[in-house]
Amino acid sequence: MSAYKLLLCPADPGCPAIDTKLLAGCLQEIGLAGNAVALDAGTCYRTGERFLQLVTFLGCAPSIELDLPDDASAREIACAEGQVCHIRLSRTGSGLRFRADDRMAPPRCPECRQPLANWSGLIDAWRSNPDHLGWQCGHCGHQGRLFDLNFRKSAGFGHTFIEIWGIHPAEAVPVTGLLDALEAFSGCQWKTLYVSD
Ligand SMILES: [Zn+2]
Repeated sequence: MSAYKLLLCPADPGCPAIDTKLLAGCLQEIGLAGNAVALDAGTCYRTGERFLQLVTFLGCAPSIELDLPDDASAREIACAEGQVCHIRLSRTGSGLRFRADDRMAPPRCPECRQPLANWSGLIDAWRSNPDHLGWQCGHCGHQGRLFDLNFRKSAGFGHTFIEIWGIHPAEAVPVTGLLDALEAFSGCQWKTLYVSD
């Protein structure tokens, strides 16, 4: 089952994988994440005491649920469906992972802006052979790497993802202070994605 999430990941796919225990410690220190909670799917973290200072919700009075249910089975369902806001950390063992919104529009050629109709086939080919990074635009002939395609905020490549579950596309944004803290911790700049995956 897919659930809405705000993802934070290093902007440069070349940024090495980050130890999730150290990353969790960083997020707890700045108050984005609170206590760890064991779920069937792995460890998650409650939102921390400074969560609402580090993530700005846009629009009027968002109805965001921050408290995990006390009942274990209710908690499992609420977390799996993204009904309650919580944080998970995801890191690949080796190699890059491509995360994308289930219903994203095709990425555009950075040169001629035309949508790349066969992009999912290119991603599949890359998944079976990570050397298959190249692509060529059928409209203008521009050649590039999959990393260079403009996926906007709907998809991206990375080794490490901070997942803030329960946030719909563009419903909330990280404040500059959060991005600065992540950059200071990791040495990489971070970007924001919105996916349901
Ligand atoms: Zn093109």
